[in-house]
Amino acid sequence: MPVKINDYEPIVGRNVIEELDLLASQVEGKVIQHINSTALGGGVAELLSRIVPLSKELGIDNRWDLITGEEEFFTITKKIHNSLHGAPIDLTREEIDYFIDTNRKNAETISWSGDIFYIHDTQPIALIEKQKDIGGNWIWRCHVDFSAPYQPIWEFLKQYIAQYDATVFSAPAYARNLPIPQALISPSIDPLSDKNRDLSSEEIEATFNRFGLDPERPTLTQISRFDYLKDPFGVITVYRTVKKYVDCQLVLAGGGAVDDPEGDLVHRQVLDQTDDDPDIHVLLLPPDSNIEINALQRGSTVILQKSLREGFGLTVAEGLWKAKPVVASAVGGIPRQIVHRFSGILTHTIDGTAYWVRQILQSPEFAASLGKNGKEYIRQNFLITRHIRDYLLLVLSLSHPGDDIITLSQRA
Ligand code: UDP
Repeated sequence: MPVKINDYEPIVGRNVIEELDLLASQVEGKVIQHINSTALGGGVAELLSRIVPLSKELGIDNRWDLITGEEEFFTITKKIHNSLHGAPIDLTREEIDYFIDTNRKNAETISWSGDIFYIHDTQPIALIEKQKDIGGNWIWRCHVDFSAPYQPIWEFLKQYIAQYDATVFSAPAYARNLPIPQALISPSIDPLSDKNRDLSSEEIEATFNRFGLDPERPTLTQISRFDYLKDPFGVITVYRTVKKYVDCQLVLAGGGAVDDPEGDLVHRQVLDQTDDDPDIHVLLLPPDSNIEINALQRGSTVILQKSLREGFGLTVAEGLWKAKPVVASAVGGIPRQIVHRFSGILTHTIDGTAYWVRQILQSPEFAASLGKNGKEYIRQNFLITRHIRDYLLLVLSLSHPGDDIITLSQRA
């Protein structure tokens, strides 16, 4: 059954629902069009798959379209992605031309129908060239960590970013010197989605059994695309270190994304490094594995997110929402979600991560208090209702350029 906005009331309270309703009534009549590069796999697809239908439920006409391209395009965009994360990767003139050309071809084939265009991440960034033909307000929504981008790539992207009406980032460290307004809007999770809703213990156990996991033994889990920046190899070392002292099993679960051509290689390397240990479960999940991921997270003893870079890290919020102790790297958007030793654990090294995992496995009460506080922190800050509210406020501010105060009128 589709989720209704009132279904969120027991979680977030009546006031939040009423405020959303009021804000939605102010943007009625405007069409919002989101564009990104994949419908499945990764955080952006996850976010849009929840935000678009729930916004519709609020009466907002919003759509979601994809930029398409050949494998070569996504190889180039992955290079751009990695270099935004700081890797010194230069693009050739041909690669740059190919990137721009694919954006231009998409600009001609996309069915443009918005008043407000949310362009997500770098793959479709050059679509902004279309604004001169169709007008509208254009927002560049960046989900990646670019606190320390490789400078030549940053300069290349900046010429496009500067043409937008506003940008949205996930963490204060990503704010840059730009000639356009910048908004800080954190991503969110949907507590009522299959990925996050409550599950029965039978459902959790059935998933563990299906994947050959022992529900009675401590389980460390990292859910992530197979990507070097998620550091699956670091996770394996953490597990091996912990296992010297405490019995446990490890789950590394993830699928691919169309816009991530490196996934197969990383997955194969992970398999090569782990095939001698029956307690390491490397699970390649199909894209619609929401209930399975939910069950794996809920059945785990510790959730890991040992990323080397991370725009926000939805998997952290997902683990915390399930009241699990989460041990995660203090990178990118992760410290926004965790108050160290109160609502989770932030770490900087493999040894530090292993140390904290051991502490948690040996202190169930500490684990429970981290989980409890973590869940409440997510409830207050990172649920979809807050996210849609922020998006609507941004749209409203763009529709009232120069106004310091916007008066909101109630729906008739
Ligand atoms: N995810 C998924 N299937 C997978 C791996 C990840 O559905 O095989 C989901 C995960 O649960 C989370 C999102 O994809 O909702 C990943 O978002 P995150 O911000 O953690 O990382 P990103 O992939 O965007 O770098």
